[in-house]
Amino acid sequence: AATARLYRPGHDPLTVLTAGSVRPALLNSSAAWVVQFYSSSCGHCIAFAPTWRALAGDVKDWESAIRVGVLDCGEEGNYETCKEYGIRYYPTIRYFKAFTKQFTTGENYQGADRELQTLRQMMIDFLQNHSQEMRPPACPPLDPVLSSDLTSIFDKNSHHYTAIVFESNSSYVGREVILDLVQYENIVVRRALNVDKPFLEKLGVTSVPSCYLVQPNGSHGLINNLKPLRSFFSSYLKSLPGVRKKLLLPLQLPAPENKEESTEIQVWKEFDKSRLYMADLESGLHFLLRVELATHKALEGAELKTFKDFVTISAKLFPGRQPVVKLLETLQEWLVSLPLDKIPYDAILDLVNNKMRISGIFLPRKVQWVGCQGSRPELRGYSCSLWKLFHTLTVQAALRPKALINTGLEDNPQIVLQVMRKYIQHFFGCKACAQHFEEMAKESMDAVKSLEQAVLWLWEKHNVVNSRLAGDLSEDPKFPKVQWPTPDICPACHEEIKGLHSWNEAQVLQFLKSHYSSDNILYKYTE
Ligand code: FAD
Repeated sequence: AATARLYRPGHDPLTVLTAGSVRPALLNSSAAWVVQFYSSSCGHCIAFAPTWRALAGDVKDWESAIRVGVLDCGEEGNYETCKEYGIRYYPTIRYFKAFTKQFTTGENYQGADRELQTLRQMMIDFLQNHSQEMRPPACPPLDPVLSSDLTSIFDKNSHHYTAIVFESNSSYVGREVILDLVQYENIVVRRALNVDKPFLEKLGVTSVPSCYLVQPNGSHGLINNLKPLRSFFSSYLKSLPGVRKKLLLPLQLPAPENKEESTEIQVWKEFDKSRLYMADLESGLHFLLRVELATHKALEGAELKTFKDFVTISAKLFPGRQPVVKLLETLQEWLVSLPLDKIPYDAILDLVNNKMRISGIFLPRKVQWVGCQGSRPELRGYSCSLWKLFHTLTVQAALRPKALINTGLEDNPQIVLQVMRKYIQHFFGCKACAQHFEEMAKESMDAVKSLEQAVLWLWEKHNVVNSRLAGDLSEDPKFPKVQWPTPDICPACHEEIKGLHSWNEAQVLQFLKSHYSSDNILYKYTE
């Protein structure tokens, strides 16, 4: 089927940027920009997409002052670009000023709140704080006018309408209406604060926000019968006789590459859901090592320690094909031998990418989801493979308890879980997922006393996540979030006690040990 991306150029009211178009678009732009760097495989990005789309639609009329864009960091062609912008988590929202002369990585939107209204207000704050001289020319003054200046407006015959939104200090309505009317001619919109009470009284303004109108012929008065809302003010002003939308030349976007719209034809790969596919595990490792970690310029301190431990447990426990295991072992030995406390990630990439096929050290560069295929390209994929990878590692640790001897990580039943916890904390692109996972870990990871309990702990927590995400927008309709393993793949795992469902944990453990064992791995679709 032709694949549909999370955002579609020409269809959504925003600009879909790509590796090729992002720099020219942001550089020396006459409008400021707010860009969401997302990853098509991140559940939160999927869940957030309707908000972002709605925001873009809501501020479409502001685009000559500030534009809304997206860039998909989960798309292979954009990996390098997202690295240049230093994107580590998805979604990351960045502001870019107008008329930047050089490459910049923009300003992060720091807020935790991703409500449409908050985001819209942040856009206004950004425009208002924009350096005056570089301000987008289309952006009118957003600061309030003083009542002394208003008097002169009233006295003037100006041939156009002037609307004044009176409002309180904390209100954004005035600025929203100003921006809503950016593209309209024969009207100027200003805002004033409700500080000079006697003056307001004289004008008949008794409540805020309210909209006051000066006609082209100089007569003026309060507009009554309007609900004190942005939408009422804006649509009233837009419909005044003589107020028209300026004919704008369509904003020129540099060489629109239609790459992301190119209809990748993805052929559905049939698979058996009771089996584990090496293609998923290797693709996950590929993405982890070459994409997710590669957003870090260098590793040091706790991040370096986490990476080293991850490589060690993977080298010892990953039930992979020879070339991949060899690569992990080489990487591990190299990391151990390095006396550095800071390693540039490029050095690691060099090693991972080194074409050592001939010497039998190799990790395929390809993303090939099989059991982790989504019915749409933005669904499942990497996060599915990361779960599978860590389940596999907990199970392998339980099956081969001696594997970690002499690594310094032996004799710790929680070791795989701890490495996973740190990995998720430091590197997983989905920050909110990491927070949830950290909460669960804090609560009960300490109680794990054996390698077997570690297998069951991860199983149980994964089911907690499944149950939390059931019905969520990130859920693939073809792969509903269910309590796993389902009765069809493990009948013995399920029991009823007095009519209530209950897990037979001994059976679940046995099932997990077999499901995530080497014997259950299929190599179909690997290179
Ligand atoms: P996944 O949940 O990814 O499962 C992959 C496969 O693992 C399944 O197909 C099945 O074969 C097997 N499996 C399923 N359940 C279990 C189990 N209990 N034990 C063992 N194996 C199992 N997304 C969000 O939107 N919000 C979050 O907070 C969030 N937190 C996450 C935390 C972590 C640590 C990770 C790795 C991912 C998180 N995600 C979150 C992503 C989400 O859990 C899924 O990975 C994603 O939605 C893809 O779902 P999926 O259908 O491929 O199944």
